Order: sequence, then C-alpha cells, then structure tokens
Amino acid sequence: MKNINLFMIAIVSVFCIGKCWAEEVNLYSARKEHLIKPLIELFEKDTGIKVNLVTAKSSQLHQRILREGKNSPADVLLTTDAGNLWKASSENFFQSIDSDTLNSRISPKYRDKNNLWFGLSLRARIFVYSLDRVSKSELKGYKFLSNPIFKNRILIRSSSNVYNQSLIAHMIAKYGEADTEFWAKDLVNNFARDPAGGDRDQIKAIAAGIGDIAVVNSYYIINMLNSDNKGIFDSLGIYFPNDEDMGTHFNISGAGLLINAPNPDNGKKLIEFLASDQGQEIYSNINFEYPVVDHIEIPDVLKKLGSFKEDSINIYEYGRLSFKAIKLADRVGWK
Ligand code: FE
Repeated sequence: MKNINLFMIAIVSVFCIGKCWAEEVNLYSARKEHLIKPLIELFEKDTGIKVNLVTAKSSQLHQRILREGKNSPADVLLTTDAGNLWKASSENFFQSIDSDTLNSRISPKYRDKNNLWFGLSLRARIFVYSLDRVSKSELKGYKFLSNPIFKNRILIRSSSNVYNQSLIAHMIAKYGEADTEFWAKDLVNNFARDPAGGDRDQIKAIAAGIGDIAVVNSYYIINMLNSDNKGIFDSLGIYFPNDEDMGTHFNISGAGLLINAPNPDNGKKLIEFLASDQGQEIYSNINFEYPVVDHIEIPDVLKKLGSFKEDSINIYEYGRLSFKAIKLADRVGWK
C-alpha cells in the first residue's frame, strides 16, 4: 500500500510541477501570443482554469479545425475579421452561445445573429494621407476615392486580403452590387501601383512618394507610431472616412465556441471574460483596438487618432456578401 501511495505521489508530481489545474480550456488563437498572453494569465488566476494556447494564422487554424474534425480539442477559436468568423460559422464550426453577459454587453451589430460568434474588439479601416499633397477638405467617404482627382494616387493592398473583401462587402450592402462595381473599377484606375504588401507598406509608400492616400487598419498606425518609423508621420495625416451615405467601416476581432468543444462551459467563461470590463480594457490597450463594449473607455492612443462616425451596418453582412465581393474585385481587375 505504501508503495502504491509513493507511486501516486510520484505521478502527481510529474504532472503538477508548478501548478496543478483541475480545469482547462483549449484556445486556438489567430492573434499573436504577446497580444493575448496577459489576458490568459489573468483568466487563469481568476478562474483556476488552465488555458492551452495554440497560435497560428487564421487560415491555418481554419484548416487545422477542419482536419481534426470531431476529434478537435479546440474549445474556442479567436480570430480577426467578421469575414473569417462568418466563413467558420458557415462551415458549421460553432455552437450558439446562450449568455446573458455576452448578449447584454455586445451589440447585435457586432455578433452573429444566431450568437455563433461575438466581436471582442473593433478596428477601423481608415485613410492615411500626405499632408503635402492632399488637402483634408478633398477627403470624403470611401466612395469618393474613385474620383478622377485621385488618379494614380491611391494605395491599398490586394483584394485577396479579407480586410478589403469586408470593405467591398460593406460597399455592396450600402450601394448595391452594380454601383459598387463601377466604384471599384474607377478605384483600380486610381491605384498608384499594383497592390503590394500589407497595410504598413501602403503607409511607407506615401512617405516614399509612390502615392498620396493609403487605406489601412487603425491599429497599424499606432504600431508604427510606437516604432522607429514614427518620424514618417510628421508629414502624414489621418482621416476617418465618412459621407452622408456611409460612416467609417469598422471590423472586429472575435471568438466562437466550437461545436465539438470538449470543455464548452470553460470556453464560454473565457469568451465572457474577454468581454468583461477588465478583459476589454486590457485587450484594447494591448491590441490598440477599440473596445466593443460601449461603456469601456477608449485608450488615449486611439483617441488621438481622431473622432469618427461609425456606420450603422450589422457586420454579419460582411460575411454574407463576401463571395460577391471577391467576384466583383476579380471582375474589375483589383489584384
Ligand atoms: Fe492586421
């Protein structure tokens, strides 16, 4: 008997070096580890639930979940862009979450209509422009970027990127497919170069004199302002696109609970934690994204970018119209 006890102690010590966890949750995250780690540590401390983190690109996690099928250990998928979340939900990845906390804190605008996924932070797709070559009064909404005055002056990444697919989908929802196609065709005519690189590269291309106006996600601006590239912003302005028909295009990062989650209760607790006051404050301060919960203070660095008029669209539309958006971009030659 004594030997068996010693054996059990030995086994427990092997598996419980450091801390022993009674509960766990498996998080598949398309957000970089350093952007999510402080939240995980706090959640573990508060709940005693160990978070097993798998980090990879959104498309890699998507493929991995498909491959793992029913045996996937994933409880929660955390990713960026409503387009990615919509794709996951349309392939039956998620189960609906019945949560008064999530329903009361996250506007229906920023969650799936069947509560299959929830937005947790907001990013705006906005303009950075050359202060020397563009007057702020020339800038209006996204629609106006197709005006001939901007011939050879617009910088934007490829339409294969989900950020642009969601923007085009938003335009289709606002203006209809035919008008959006005319717009996109004229916009392509205004490109300063064939789309190349990511959002940061578009900003650098203004500084290099390649074009005058770049369309980029808001958090990239703050990332660059916090880097060695800070200096280039001396000659750059920031503008939140807006006109009488359409406010600023916002997208989300968000999460869903997987349909075969082995730890569904813990998964739900993790998503609720990310939507809590504390979770939202940390999440938005680390990621330089706007909180999705209304009463949470916007971080100062984001306030400095400027004020905006948010559009009224339900971002579920970005996913619903994504296929049309991709086809449309193809037809107008937006590489
Ligand atoms: Fe990004």
